[in-house]
Amino acid sequence: MRLIFLGPPGAGKGTQATRIVAKHGIPQLSTGDMLRAAVAAGTPVGLKAKAVMDAGGLVSDEIVIGIVADRIEEADAKKGFILDGFPRTLAQAEALDSMLAGKGLKLDKVLELRVDQSKLVDRIVRRAEEAKAAGQPVRKDDDPEVFKTRLEAYNRDTAIVAPYYEKRGQLTPIDGMQPIDDVSSAIEQALAG
Ligand code: AMP
Repeated sequence: MRLIFLGPPGAGKGTQATRIVAKHGIPQLSTGDMLRAAVAAGTPVGLKAKAVMDAGGLVSDEIVIGIVADRIEEADAKKGFILDGFPRTLAQAEALDSMLAGKGLKLDKVLELRVDQSKLVDRIVRRAEEAKAAGQPVRKDDDPEVFKTRLEAYNRDTAIVAPYYEKRGQLTPIDGMQPIDDVSSAIEQALAG
């Protein structure tokens, strides 16, 4: 099963993707996680991406497409994957199409978590507080000001990705404002359909 999770930052993509991993045994390919790992390891990609990420902007298509192209070649991705946080631009969506077409593969579903953006800043503040309380590191870009920049980047560059899949009849919208378990049930129903 090959899935894409779309939706603005803070919509719950990561949380829901983790549940799909547990239930369906396919890996979650989060470009945000991969980039944070590259930053932590101080790789050339990480060095290039760090400032952009800290400021809430988008890392270049070239870098992100390269990371995903390498990652989907790995053994665990052969049985399928959930892309979380990718594609974030039309260029990335088109690059993914050609990557998959080159391998004779297709996407099974594109799930879009639809949320009320005015509620997202509160969510992100809570996410930062919960991480702190659990003794986990708080993401630098979960600061409310940086978050606003991330939301702007979403509305400017990423919001057009969902209609791209909708036009092809591949998009399944999910109400992301429901309680977390209800969102998971809606996703499972969509995957079964
Ligand atoms: P995320 O964990 O998905 O919220 O991503 C954190 C940050 O990583 C984003 O704010 C971007 O700076 C960068 N990033 C992650 N995925 C992408 C992508 N597909 N394209 C460009 N930048 C990305």
